[in-house]
Amino acid sequence: MKIYVVGLGPGGMDQMTGRAEAVLEESQVIAGYDVYIDLIRERFGHKKLLSTPMKKEVDRCHLALSEAVKGQTVSMVCSGDAGVYGMAGLMYEVAQEYEPVEIEVVPGITAACSGAAVLGAPLIHDFSVISLSDLLTPWERIEKRLDCAAEADFVICLYNPSSKKRHDYLQKACDIVMRHRGPDTVAGFVKNIGREGESGTVLTLAQLRDTAVDMFTTVYIGNSQTKNIGGKMVTPRGYRGV
Ligand code: SAH
Repeated sequence: MKIYVVGLGPGGMDQMTGRAEAVLEESQVIAGYDVYIDLIRERFGHKKLLSTPMKKEVDRCHLALSEAVKGQTVSMVCSGDAGVYGMAGLMYEVAQEYEPVEIEVVPGITAACSGAAVLGAPLIHDFSVISLSDLLTPWERIEKRLDCAAEADFVICLYNPSSKKRHDYLQKACDIVMRHRGPDTVAGFVKNIGREGESGTVLTLAQLRDTAVDMFTTVYIGNSQTKNIGGKMVTPRGYRGV
């Protein structure tokens, strides 16, 4: 009885690891959120595919576990990395309610890394990753994390920067960061990483504040040293004595 919790990377098959592809091939059942199941349907359509809508994460784990206890090898897929705002933790928690099932987490390229590659080299130095989603974290705590990360001069990478209900959160986040960093700080965002319509934009923090982004976007705010080099977002690591 085995469940793999698999990070698919940001988009298509070409950004999936060889290990991820191998465990999907080995599995009889693949479960996941509709959108991710669609990403792999072409290649793994011959498997039993169980897709569930967003916000049904606990149900999805039960679904996968009930297949596994029947003796099936099951993969639960997530975009990016399964352990970064993914399903890996929840799977361990829900599995406690079942007879022992072996769980293996198979890592993938998280959006922070795949998006960074599109923009240039923004994360080269210490960085912090913050999700602006207040579905599971109170907004006051998110504000505190933004404030502390900005004060400590981390490069900041933002996941879940927007949704229909949270259209002004990025603006609020930029205002908090600007308590500690100038409006000309180099920033960037990448939409649809590794998918159709991928596009990266490098701009200033002040411009980012007034930009509308959607939930398929990952946002980057440079530290005090980050530069715009010919349209690429680059954080120096200090090799050149900067
Ligand atoms: N487990 C995923 C993150 C899920 S949270 C990972 O490791 O990448 C969802 C957020 O991740 C989105 O709101 C967006 O900010 C970011 N994201 C995930 N995939 C993306 C993609 N292909 N393009 C742009 N942003 C992406």
